[in-house]
Amino acid sequence: MASVFGKIVVGTYVEIKRSDGRIHQAMVTSMNEDNESVTVEWIENGDTKGKEIDLESIFSLNPDVAPDEEIAPSPETPPPPTPSLVKVSKIAKNRRTIAPPKNDAPSKDNRAIPTRARAPQQPEPAPPPPVQQPTQPQTQQQQQNESSLQLMSRKEFGQLSRRKSNCVKEVEKLQEKRERRRLQQQELREKRAQEVDTTIPNYEILYMIRDFRASLDYRPLTTADVIEEHRICVCVRKRPLNKKELTIKDLDVITIPSKDVVMVHEPKQKVDLTRYLENQTFRFDYAFDDSTSNEMVYRFTARPLVETIFERGMATCFAYGQTGSGKTHTMGGDFSGKNQDCSKGIYALAARDVFLMLKKPNYKKLDLQVYATFFEIYSGKVFDLLNRKAKLRVLEDGKQQVQVVGLQEKEVKCTEDVLKLIEVGNSCRTSGQTSANAHSSRSHAVFQIILRRKGKMHGKFSLIDLAGNERGADTSSADRQTRMEGAEINKSLLALKECIRALGRNKPHTPFRASKLTQVLRDSFIGENSRTCMIATISPGMTSCENTLNTLRYANRVKELTVDPNQVMEGGRANIHAVNQLDILDEKWLSISPQRDDLKLLCEQNEEEVSPQLFTFHEAVSQLVEMEEQVLEDHRAVFQESIKWLEDEKVLLEMTEEVDYDVESYATQLEQILDQKIEILIELRDKVKSFRSALQEEEQASKQINPKRPRAL
Ligand code: ADP
Ligand code: MG
Repeated sequence: MASVFGKIVVGTYVEIKRSDGRIHQAMVTSMNEDNESVTVEWIENGDTKGKEIDLESIFSLNPDVAPDEEIAPSPETPPPPTPSLVKVSKIAKNRRTIAPPKNDAPSKDNRAIPTRARAPQQPEPAPPPPVQQPTQPQTQQQQQNESSLQLMSRKEFGQLSRRKSNCVKEVEKLQEKRERRRLQQQELREKRAQEVDTTIPNYEILYMIRDFRASLDYRPLTTADVIEEHRICVCVRKRPLNKKELTIKDLDVITIPSKDVVMVHEPKQKVDLTRYLENQTFRFDYAFDDSTSNEMVYRFTARPLVETIFERGMATCFAYGQTGSGKTHTMGGDFSGKNQDCSKGIYALAARDVFLMLKKPNYKKLDLQVYATFFEIYSGKVFDLLNRKAKLRVLEDGKQQVQVVGLQEKEVKCTEDVLKLIEVGNSCRTSGQTSANAHSSRSHAVFQIILRRKGKMHGKFSLIDLAGNERGADTSSADRQTRMEGAEINKSLLALKECIRALGRNKPHTPFRASKLTQVLRDSFIGENSRTCMIATISPGMTSCENTLNTLRYANRVKELTVDPNQVMEGGRANIHAVNQLDILDEKWLSISPQRDDLKLLCEQNEEEVSPQLFTFHEAVSQLVEMEEQVLEDHRAVFQESIKWLEDEKVLLEMTEEVDYDVESYATQLEQILDQKIEILIELRDKVKSFRSALQEEEQASKQINPKRPRAL
């Protein structure tokens, strides 16, 4: 049944207008039918205040609670009983006298403007402009009500305030709760502020990681864990935060909860700017946390491979990762500070065990000799670190046997000898460099321990400190040298991955020729008795997160096919398909350049990482490298020849000083020499010309590379 109170019930919140013009919310605490008014209460400065207001004033400010009987009742709606109709019409009439609305039913829009103007939380002194026709004179009734409130005795008002209705109590309870929550939050903030420096950038992320870690069950690797036999072993090593990272208060976003799991807590942001963690989990053969020593890493990775080389096998161990992630620390030893200690690196630890093994009766009788080589591959060129960085040539014979011409193999009799060589090689590697990392980030260092029996190869262990994988992304650099280095790193790391995968699956075709690194290590990947190990080193900092994820994805790709049998099948099929396609191309391509053929295979196997533009660029770079070698070789030959020409010409000129020299013979010989010179020089000049246009092609191709690619490998 409709009433004069419209939609008002006790507890309804309404807007009220104060005598000073302020408008704010108050709660209806009683409805007074006698004088068609309501009593409202509100809290102001902690006190409950009250006021009686006539319905007209309430409805004019709160049209949404007004009775809607004024709208002509529809035929379906039974007409309301007469008495209330009378009352309603009276109010309606009154209202019209207060504020004649444009429409009988005020639209929401009419309300919208004042609503915005009267934010209840607005500071007290600034009264918002009066909203509803302020110039309208107040009704008698209103004036009466106002004055009745003003005239209300203190006692009466006190009674009103004390008579707290249930609703007001509810409001107070809510307020109390809110206050309690606020205090709790404040306490929590203060507690956290004491625990940790809130000036740490991303400290909320730090808490999320802490909370996440608190929920984990830690079971790190121990010496009691079984050393498994793997043909391919892929593991991850996390280093501690370094000084630089600690200075900038970088966060450790890597967790290694167990012996084979690595978790990356990647901070992300939602559209509404809320931050959250994306936790990514990877599984490897082993996961070494930041407290693991080199000795321990060695125990599970390279040590099992020492026996392989005694059993006439080939072994390789790679340190792969971003620059500064700990590759050299792992392979070469601790080089921080002035006192370099290479005795704790995997090179030295492996050498130590080689000499221990030699003493075992089984191997002693083989009468093996131990040799070591140490070289560096930089931008597709090989340099001997044990021979003043002499540039070496890599040749492949008809039987696909790869030879590094002139590489010095030094015989070593004990671990000490090996340590000395490592020192010599390291100082040679970094000589003239402003920082060890500046150069090592762009080159692969290969240290080999070779066992020979009566001069014949028995086994070989290659330990490789790879170039920083982030360098693979340098292919679009503006500087040619950086681009070429980047291309070679990108290619060699892709090729390495494919070679290791091929080793795991005994694949017939491996793109080892696609890079110098894999070409040089080819003999280590083939053969029944080959084993390899990859140690992916990662930096723990949030600033390295993207590179770390790239490293983990790469490492995961190296091993994935040997982990899950179903994936092996899928991957195997996909690659067989690729090989078949290439077999058709093989004949055409092989005659031109086997390198290019392998490059194509490599790019097909890594379509995701290698865009067609990047492939074209790689082709251009490979061609450039080949041409450069040719031009240099030819130039050297022409230079040697020129010396001979000079000698011949000298003889010829001397001949002319004789009184009766044979003019005809002189002319003939000179012409011969000049013809020869011209022919050879033109040939060299043409080669230089095409070399120059290849340089331009490379530059063009580099500009076409999709900027999103390549990612760091
Ligand atoms: P990379 O060879 O990958 O560029 P480095 O081996 O030179 O990186 O390591 C960078 C820095 O971090 C060095 O100062 C090194 O001593 C330090 N470091 C690396 N790994 C560790 C580790 N596991 N424990 C302590 N310090 C480490
Ligand atoms: Mg290094």
